[in-house]
Amino acid sequence: MSTIDEIKSRIDIVDLVSEAGVKLRHAGKNYTGFCPFHDNKHTPAFVVWPDSGTWRCFGQCNEGGDIFKFVMKRENIDFKEALDKLAARAGVQVPSFTKETPQQKEAYENLRKLLEDAAIFYRNHLLANKEILGYLRTQRGLTDASIETFGLGYAPRAWDSALAHFTQRGYSERDMLEAGLLSERDSGGFYDRFRNRIMIPIRDGSGRMAGFGARIVDPNDIPKFLNSPETPVFTKGHLLYGLDRARKAIRTVDQAVIVEGYLDVIALHQAGYENVVSPMGTALTEDQLRLLKKFTRRIVLALDPDTAGQKAILRGLDAARAAMDREGELGFDARGLLGNEARLQADLRVASLPDGLDPDEIVVRNRDEWGAIIDNAKPIVEHVMVSLAEGKNLNDRNVINEIAGQVLPLINDLPTPADREFFTQRLARFLRVDERAFIGTQAQTPRTKRPRQTQAQSAQSVQKQAVSQEKIAVAVSSSKMVGEYVIGVLFKRPELLYRLDRLLQQFGLLALAAQDFEYTDHQMLFRLIREALEQDKAEHHDFVVGAMPETLQGLSRDLTAQTEKLERLDEKLLEELLRGIVKLRRAAANENLNQLRYLQEAAHQAGDLRASNYQDLVLQNTKLLRDLDQASRKISLKKLE
Ligand SMILES: [Zn+2]
Repeated sequence: MSTIDEIKSRIDIVDLVSEAGVKLRHAGKNYTGFCPFHDNKHTPAFVVWPDSGTWRCFGQCNEGGDIFKFVMKRENIDFKEALDKLAARAGVQVPSFTKETPQQKEAYENLRKLLEDAAIFYRNHLLANKEILGYLRTQRGLTDASIETFGLGYAPRAWDSALAHFTQRGYSERDMLEAGLLSERDSGGFYDRFRNRIMIPIRDGSGRMAGFGARIVDPNDIPKFLNSPETPVFTKGHLLYGLDRARKAIRTVDQAVIVEGYLDVIALHQAGYENVVSPMGTALTEDQLRLLKKFTRRIVLALDPDTAGQKAILRGLDAARAAMDREGELGFDARGLLGNEARLQADLRVASLPDGLDPDEIVVRNRDEWGAIIDNAKPIVEHVMVSLAEGKNLNDRNVINEIAGQVLPLINDLPTPADREFFTQRLARFLRVDERAFIGTQAQTPRTKRPRQTQAQSAQSVQKQAVSQEKIAVAVSSSKMVGEYVIGVLFKRPELLYRLDRLLQQFGLLALAAQDFEYTDHQMLFRLIREALEQDKAEHHDFVVGAMPETLQGLSRDLTAQTEKLERLDEKLLEELLRGIVKLRRAAANENLNQLRYLQEAAHQAGDLRASNYQDLVLQNTKLLRDLDQASRKISLKKLE
């Protein structure tokens, strides 16, 4: 749930409006009262719908909205201020998004500057240390050029060498702590976080310093790998090692390869495979895949047999996911990866490396072998199938049942029927059984205990639901969902609005307007979409994203997730949008009419003859309904061009 939705769900609009001094009276499911925004104490023209959390004035104002709009109008403040106010009331924390404030920006720049200096500090120590240099050259096979290009360094074996060096240069201990260069003693005081380690500077996708990865020199030291702690500029789940140097190659060869170690990335780049990156020693995150998706949709995971093999897969299928998020292990979670693949519309494959060999050993042994291994990468489902069967007797009925029991649930999770059918056939052929044997298997395989859902997984299934709901959103009755669908599509493809307006006109309806949306956040986004179409300096979608206030970032994230899978032809999309809008307007008009009849009656009973204002609105809404009916008949008859 977005912050905005969370706030809406926690604040009762009836309370909010009442507290603002509006006396509300029960009227069926709804409440009515005198409008606080215009001056008329004769007829109660103000209606509140507790269910949808919205209000409308049927009098002079003739407008309405949600709790945000109410507070904005009431207190004459902007959306951001209303959001802060209502968030405080609801006890909801408004998350700050990545858009940096000038102060933050300066703080980040100072942090990065210190990290840049630290990279130089460690590099100088490496160049002065023949032993470590020798190790990198001979044991790891790195050339001096690679060591230079990737800025490798060495942290001396001392508790205070970085501390002393940077104190001398005027940095405070706090600065160094925040940059992740120091650790704090329980008893107070600080010491170097990295000691006697090979230092690997980690940069973000734009090449800015983010932190360090550090690898032991002394085999007795633990842990083997140590990263910078999470800092404002080092967020493990959002970074990929080597991306700044790999992005061009990834785009050129239209493929990204993910390996498990930083030094492997360097070795592969050195061998000419420059499309290689590595996560920060933890399970691959959706954010990281999203990062790569900007450059290619073809992503290969090149994994150690330990990570990609049987044991890991079984663990991934059966054990709670949390157990796999151990530091230093990439983790292979077939179900999670499949979910990501579907959501991101990516082509995710797995290349299993030969037993006991690291990528750098492979390229040193035979450069071309690496290319062949990557070319042989298999779709995730197939990889799971093959790994599970490894070393097993496929003539054994029990083995067949067991493998089918593990793989079928994965196949059933695939988003398209074509994929499900394809892999069911594959599985049948692979196990040399009749495909029909699988019919109904998934429903009655007690031996395939589904893993208990962890939080991450249930979040995934919620998202998956969102994707499938997205397909039928327009058929769903809730106006909120329809509104979200329409705004979501337009957010992604603003230029469709032109054609949509033309279509609406063709069917005798008004162009889409902000008022068509019930909620303030949707209305704001809609106005930005209109603005985007009126300028020609930036791509429409980019313009909207750039102009979007920070407070709407959460909404944009939700909408992006929901519309990720939109791939229908424009005609089909337009038709859905059109139907959606007719649906929205029809629901609104019907609701208005209901209310108006009630208000009219109440006014007449009170002897107020000025209820004629309502009569106009009744006529307006009745005509609108007629137009909408006519339009929807035409829409269903006529094929849209
Ligand atoms: Zn009013």
